[in-house]
Amino acid sequence: MMNILITGGAGFIGSAVVRHIISETNDNVLVVDSLTYAGNLESLKEVENDPRYRFVLANICDRDSLDEIFSEFKPDAVMHLAAESHVDRSIDGPSAFIDTNITGTYTLLESARHYWSGLDDEKKNVFRFHHISTDEVYGDLHGTTDLFTETTPYAPSSPYSASKAASDHLVRAWNRTYGLPTLITNCSNNYGPYHFPEKLIPLVILNAIAGKPLPVYGDGAQIRDWLFVEDHARALYEVVTKGVIGETYNIGGHNERKNIDVVKTICSILDQLVSDKPAGLTHFNELITFVKDRPGHDMRYAIDASKIERELGWTPVETFESGILKTVKWYLENETWWKRVQDGSYAGERLGLKD
Ligand code: NAD
Repeated sequence: MMNILITGGAGFIGSAVVRHIISETNDNVLVVDSLTYAGNLESLKEVENDPRYRFVLANICDRDSLDEIFSEFKPDAVMHLAAESHVDRSIDGPSAFIDTNITGTYTLLESARHYWSGLDDEKKNVFRFHHISTDEVYGDLHGTTDLFTETTPYAPSSPYSASKAASDHLVRAWNRTYGLPTLITNCSNNYGPYHFPEKLIPLVILNAIAGKPLPVYGDGAQIRDWLFVEDHARALYEVVTKGVIGETYNIGGHNERKNIDVVKTICSILDQLVSDKPAGLTHFNELITFVKDRPGHDMRYAIDASKIERELGWTPVETFESGILKTVKWYLENETWWKRVQDGSYAGERLGLKD
């Protein structure tokens, strides 16, 4: 049984990790999250009454709070998911990305190093700091067959991926220079339940059922490699418990799809599941609208996940077809969750906490 400190545990992937650990293991979890617009305690309702789960409202840039949290909770492992994560927002306003993704990761590393260096030898050997990152640090691929491996050189394109690349480098340096026992994972695009509606898949589902246009950047030919979020959560737990210190593991689902094909797949699932379509609509794909491409838009991401499959025995359970069907059904059945995100009322709980 471990004490696991999870930063960003109220976010999309973080909350899936928390739900996974509470339901599948005996570990204790402490979530540290500042509840930005992307943090939502309603994604943690399933675990909120479990005695092995606790939440602390704190910013990873706040060293004093972090030091207090480390000395009180005494984690055996840190899983670091807190981040600004939306590429479009990073283009409009990069500053929060520099603060959280770079300065926040630096502050967390320093707090973790201070705590770790004070542990006795036995606990020191157990401790691990797992940094969760993205395949976007590798830039993009232009051929149709090459894949990102753990040794692909970094070439980030957006302020988001550049800030994540910087944080990966900091983590590696804290391992090489100070001996902090770190692990890094770089994962492809995630999708699934509790995904904030600004991201492509939930945006398309929710716009479609509201009869609104389905915006597709450029010609929609960009390719992403999709992984169901619960498969990612399982992979992260395998890495934090069994991964080799100092190593990087790429995580991906072997599910390359063009953006336009993802949108068309969602439309055809909705055609089958939704009987009362918005007025004037025969098929949901009539709502597809091509919009001006994002500046610096990466063409193709694709992950070679053979290292984690070979060394840790992890493989994804969901195919894209099974995962996207589960996801569409989840949004159709969980209107309360996304309506409270859309109308902003989920913030009430956050503000209540801060008062
Ligand atoms: P998210 O935006 O849904 O959640 C981020 C969480 O971090 C939120 O709960 C937010 O409140 C919290 N947070 C932000 N700034 C903070 C701060 N300064 N202090 C404390 N908490 C803060 O993100 P996500 O999609 O769940 O991604 C989690 C991690 O996984 C990120 O590091 C991201 O780079 C990485 N990642 C995401 C994807 C993806 O497809 N979503 C793919 C690969 C890797």
